[in-house]
Amino acid sequence: MEKTLVIIKPDGVKRKLMGEIIKRYENKGFNIINAKLIKADKKTVKKHYEEHKNKDFFKELVDYILEDFIFVMIIEGENAINIVRTINGHKDPLKALPGTIRGDFANSLTRNIIHASDSKESSEREIKIWF
Ligand code: ADP
Ligand code: MG
Repeated sequence: MEKTLVIIKPDGVKRKLMGEIIKRYENKGFNIINAKLIKADKKTVKKHYEEHKNKDFFKELVDYILEDFIFVMIIEGENAINIVRTINGHKDPLKALPGTIRGDFANSLTRNIIHASDSKESSEREIKIWF
């Protein structure tokens, strides 16, 4: 059993996609074992995206996450880390396939609706940051 940290980003919440997104994970057999709808603070968001702190899109990314409510959850299940990222789809709208969350709903590299941990180490790190 693996745990992964998923965030529905502000555009996902504002566009009322929370139910649609949760349904996709639950349909796959995953369990949501913790969740909260919050307005994040800057320190937490910067820590979450620490690996990108020297990228030119860092400020835009942090400001975007801070602009409105986000829905943060821990999802548990077999191979949850990789399968959730497959369900989410590629961050680049030119590469995100139909049938994935980003492929179906996102057309922006920054405002791409969803975040999920990319490894066991990042899921442990991110769960500690948010819960
Ligand atoms: P993922 O969310 O798929 O793990 P990354 O870790 O590479 O992708 O990037 C984190 C987030 O930063 C992306 O989901 C997206 O919101 C934003 N982002 C990534 N690359 C760019 C870019 N080149 N320009 C603008 N925003 C970006
Ligand atoms: Mg990432």
